[in-house]
Amino acid sequence: MKILVIEDEENIQKLLYLNLTHEKFEVVQSFDGRDGLEKARTHVPDLIILDINLPSIDGIQVCKNLKQNERTRHIPVIMLSVRKEEIDRILGFEIGADDYVTKPFSPRELLLRVKAVLKRGNGEKQPFCTVGDVFLDESSFEVTAAGKPVILTPKEFYLLKYLMRNKGRVVSRDALLTHIWGYTTDVETRTIDAHVKSLRKKIISDTIAIKTVVGMGYKLTENV
Ligand code: CA
Repeated sequence: MKILVIEDEENIQKLLYLNLTHEKFEVVQSFDGRDGLEKARTHVPDLIILDINLPSIDGIQVCKNLKQNERTRHIPVIMLSVRKEEIDRILGFEIGADDYVTKPFSPRELLLRVKAVLKRGNGEKQPFCTVGDVFLDESSFEVTAAGKPVILTPKEFYLLKYLMRNKGRVVSRDALLTHIWGYTTDVETRTIDAHVKSLRKKIISDTIAIKTVVGMGYKLTENV
């Protein structure tokens, strides 16, 4: 597995290099936005770790370019040094990063993120998924239920996506916190409950149900 790290701070590059190679990843380094974009196109890595503040082209622009380019669109991107108020935008359709880590981060935390994103990527080669008559398309950020468009917030969108990808399986609140709100978060579990409630209200379909599994979490099922 090849990982491209685009980060201008030498000490962080070094830290990531040591930790990633220790986990048997092949690492390609870039210290600059424009060079990073080029390396993404030539190396086509399995994952990109991308800092926001970079020389020549900033990380936000790099991520947008990556997600607009046919050759690099599918490569998952983890963004570094994201401010709280930026998170929705970073993960949203406009920028399209797959995950983020706020600085300062521990190498262990970042490695967990890398593995989680790569694992997620395996089952998610296609940008869309369908359960019952609910259709979700990541590339256009669209959801329809029984053919009618459903307007969701980014968090609701990613929550629904995660539940759909894990159809029939119980998903714990911890897993949802990890995948949608991030590890280093102080979001309370009732925030998740509120989002689920809102999803249930917005998705009008007899073909799926988001069930509460008491003491465990949630499960999205297809009604057959
Ligand atoms: Ca930087």
